[in-house]
Amino acid sequence: MENVSSLNVIVVGAGLVGFAAAVSLRRQGHRVTIYETSSFKSELGAGLAIPPNTLRCLRDLGCNVANLDPVENLCFTSMGYDGSQGMQSDNTDYEARYGMPWLMVHRVDLHNELKRMALGDGGEGPPATLYLNSRVISCDVGVCSITMEDGTMRAADLIIGADGIRSTIRSFVLGEEIPIPPSRTAGFRWLTHAVALEPHPELDWIVKTAPRGARVISAPVSAVTAASNAIDHRTIIIYGCRGGSVINVLAVHEDLRDQDSVAWNAPVTRETLLEFFSDYHPRFKRLLGLADDVHLWQMRAVPPLKTWVNNNVCLMGDAAHASLPTLGQGFGMGLEDAVALGVLIPRGTSSSTVPTRLIAYETLRKQRAEFVAAESFEQQHLPAKRGLYLRSIQMRDEVMGYNVKDEAQRVLCQLLGRK
Ligand SMILES: Cc1cc2nc3c(=O)[nH]c(=O)nc-3n(C[C@H](O)[C@H](O)[C@H](O)COP(=O)(O)OP(=O)(O)OC[C@H]3O[C@@H](n4cnc5c(N)ncnc54)[C@H](O)[C@@H]3O)c2cc1C
Repeated sequence: MENVSSLNVIVVGAGLVGFAAAVSLRRQGHRVTIYETSSFKSELGAGLAIPPNTLRCLRDLGCNVANLDPVENLCFTSMGYDGSQGMQSDNTDYEARYGMPWLMVHRVDLHNELKRMALGDGGEGPPATLYLNSRVISCDVGVCSITMEDGTMRAADLIIGADGIRSTIRSFVLGEEIPIPPSRTAGFRWLTHAVALEPHPELDWIVKTAPRGARVISAPVSAVTAASNAIDHRTIIIYGCRGGSVINVLAVHEDLRDQDSVAWNAPVTRETLLEFFSDYHPRFKRLLGLADDVHLWQMRAVPPLKTWVNNNVCLMGDAAHASLPTLGQGFGMGLEDAVALGVLIPRGTSSSTVPTRLIAYETLRKQRAEFVAAESFEQQHLPAKRGLYLRSIQMRDEVMGYNVKDEAQRVLCQLLGRK
């Protein structure tokens, strides 16, 4: 007899989105098992923007926001590469407008909190089980099973491929491999402890000058790089996290390398960084001169896929719709996927209705997440669209004012034929 009390769910990937999916489904009483290829020994230290729509989802899933030790982003202050002052956006109305502030957190703190919510004894539903060092190598969408590197096979009522931009599950859902094209965009990324800035009064503007918020340092839009005819897109984004004790720096730029022939993520020296920004004002170079453990990241976006679902298997997060970080919405879109799926697959769902529910999931999520991915690319590359997200109240309202839980409940009622 079919078990309708709780489903057996497999999540492939224990990144931010994989854990979020586990939380969302355990809260509905489902039994969740997560398989993760890594051992979590070297987690990525970096900051992450949590805009209001993302924070709304975290709260809906029962996140204890205090555990994230967040810093509120009250404004974006733009500055010229020569030290000149630019515009300042005011984010102080976000709480009134969207019911949530815009926060900035450390990724490791967020990952730990989602892990606690997924695996911990507290919270609703049965705790999920996590297997580390467990690479999934294939998925049979016909019988809803996965095979691990050691040959072990596991079957489930629902499989979620939350295995990131280089997803394994994606090709089994689509029935073909799809290339993730180079984006001509990359970013130097590192963290600096705020105490390291203290001996340098010329850096007081980063943490000591009100209002608190992100600082954005741009090369002149009209400038052309010496090495090519490309527009100079170099932009340094700086913000605090972990209660302001850590400063996150991301220096995005046009990547003139052949991106297919270099690593997606590689360490670089401080000297390389300083040389890259050698024409910047000395006060910015002072900050770059304090950088340690700098990595150069290629940034790529997943092109629109023909589908995200196949029978009882679905894609979620970066596996389905990785975007460039231009809108700070990559994780937010994956988190919205997780909240939506929890609403559409509630307690008591029978496994035979999962394929129909996954189609509803795709209908609800695909257009919105692919819009964000496309905008993240265009607002990085098209001069006329640069900064549009922050300039356009309509766009901000669409992205940050969205309530995925309400939308998913509306879709669920349609599915069940209720008003
Ligand atoms: C520079 C940069 C800045 C960003 N800033 C922001 C921001 O400010 N705000 C925001 O919302 N988003 C931001 N993002 C995007 C955000 O980081 C991603 O969208 C998010 O982390 C994706 O999470 P994920 O769980 O889908 O994928 P991942 O984090 O890639 O996790 C996938 C997991 O699956 C595992 N895995 C992969 N293959 C297998 C397999 N075969 N078997 C088992 N496990 C497997 C991996 O080891 C990994 O742990 C940024 C991205 C970049 C690159």
